[in-house]
Amino acid sequence: MPFQKAVSKNYSEKALNIFLILLLLITALMLFPGEVQAEADQDYPTDFEEKQGGYHGVFFRAGPEQKMKIALSFDDGPSSNYTPLILDILKEYDIKATFFLLGKQVERHPELARRIDREGHSIGNHSYSHRNFTRLDWETVKKQEIERTGKLIEDLTGQSPELVRPPFGKITEEQIVLLSELGYKVINWSVDTKDWREDNNNPGMLLTRTRLKVHPGAIILMHDGGGDRSHTVEFLPELIEMLQNKGYDLVSVDDMLSLP
Ligand SMILES: [Zn+2]
Repeated sequence: MPFQKAVSKNYSEKALNIFLILLLLITALMLFPGEVQAEADQDYPTDFEEKQGGYHGVFFRAGPEQKMKIALSFDDGPSSNYTPLILDILKEYDIKATFFLLGKQVERHPELARRIDREGHSIGNHSYSHRNFTRLDWETVKKQEIERTGKLIEDLTGQSPELVRPPFGKITEEQIVLLSELGYKVINWSVDTKDWREDNNNPGMLLTRTRLKVHPGAIILMHDGGGDRSHTVEFLPELIEMLQNKGYDLVSVDDMLSLP
């Protein structure tokens, strides 16, 4: 084969390979757009990481690193399917956790919100309807999402939560400042179990993923509502035992941040 021809054949093979790889990537994006979007959503809060000093005492992703404490947190409940099972497990291990409740779910299951409070867990405000705060004006966030939910919880437990976790962890800097002026603290997380994923969520994978990321002062994100959380329920006892074996004390977010 003449030299010139061999070279051009080589090039066209390379071009074909690149084309095939691109085609594969595009197909993957078309098949799993939700997954890509969800991953991006979860990464958003790290924008604030470097600025955390600027929000000292107002915005938290974790607690102090000096103590062997970890806080378990559960979002999007209460749900009739999973919240009671999670509460049973926490009771069995004598552990206090933090539940970031949705107002609309509190309306559906007031007895579960009462039970969470009665069993000594912390309750946080996770908005009324789980809309993205960064796409809402401040009045809507304040009145429709935060205060409405706070009132629902206060009517059941006697106390309106001081802790707020914005849906998807998304919030603007301005909203953090405005919430802090009203006396709230904004709590995201430092370890995401990714139990919200619809794939790769079997208990073993959740445990491995979490084990690699835990650290003193970690706030761990899990869910007791918003979808099928049977994996979370199954994984929880293993998670608790793994953390206790590493010497961690499992506490509520208030306890870890030394809030009254
Ligand atoms: Zn949520």
